[in-house]
Amino acid sequence: MIHRGVLQITARFIFGAWLFTAGALIFMTGAPVRAQQKLSPKWEELTAADFRAAIQQSKGTCLLPFGILEKHGPHLPLGTDLLNVRYVSLHAVEQEYALVFPEYYFGQIFEAKHEPGTIAYSMELQLKLLQETTDEMARNGCKKIIIVNGHGGNEHLLPFFAQAQMDKPHDYVVYVLDGGRSRPGGPAKKSSIADMHAGENETSNTLVSHPDLVHQDRAASESGADQKRQNLPENLYTGIWWYAKFPDHYSGDGSVATKELGQWNMDGWIAAIVESIRAAKADDASLKLQNEFYEKSRHPLDTRP
Ligand SMILES: [Zn+2]
Repeated sequence: MIHRGVLQITARFIFGAWLFTAGALIFMTGAPVRAQQKLSPKWEELTAADFRAAIQQSKGTCLLPFGILEKHGPHLPLGTDLLNVRYVSLHAVEQEYALVFPEYYFGQIFEAKHEPGTIAYSMELQLKLLQETTDEMARNGCKKIIIVNGHGGNEHLLPFFAQAQMDKPHDYVVYVLDGGRSRPGGPAKKSSIADMHAGENETSNTLVSHPDLVHQDRAASESGADQKRQNLPENLYTGIWWYAKFPDHYSGDGSVATKELGQWNMDGWIAAIVESIRAAKADDASLKLQNEFYEKSRHPLDTRP
């Protein structure tokens, strides 16, 4: 009996304390406690109503982290680019809020079609899907879309896509953030060969984002050295150049990777994304100029006296 009485008093006290705390919070903030909850930056995790709030909070600024599925040497996962670009994007929006689109990996990767696990959509589909994706993002309030590129093979596709936005009027701006996956300075590099794919830098980065998926003991089981099987001038381009140099789709030496180098690279990449989000939020020129350009492009003969 005494026991139950004590329990009842304790329960009443706890409930009273809770009411007081909740009341004080509402009083202090002037809003229900629920509204103070942090919005997830992940598109797929928000309710429809919270999505509207997220668009407001992000000022219509959204990230489209762009990965790929391709072989990454003998030791890294197929989704390395996707995993790493999402890691840095999600860390960046902790510092400067923006909405993050779900997993996207529909890019240019024809050069790895001879390796297991590569998903290479046709050129037409890559462009069409990307256009419809940004159109749909914009229709939902993303008027400033930053494509964060995590894959070297997209380095021509994405500037071309951004340039192609000038063809027809759009009520949104596409920004492309390329690079950032490595940066000069920091811990001294150990590899002596070109480091372009699944090598020292990228392996180090993955040691930070997903250490459990790195099989560093296998990194030296294939050569990531340039095979130099083509003899052409530097500025004469051919699509087979990559295969000519790196037939195993591996460029560099992942065995010498370190977490310290990865942290240096990833911190730099995160800072570059934060800077881009802030710049896009502050950018009131691009859309205005786009609209001016679209209007003039409808009657080019009138734009000059
Ligand atoms: Zn990669």
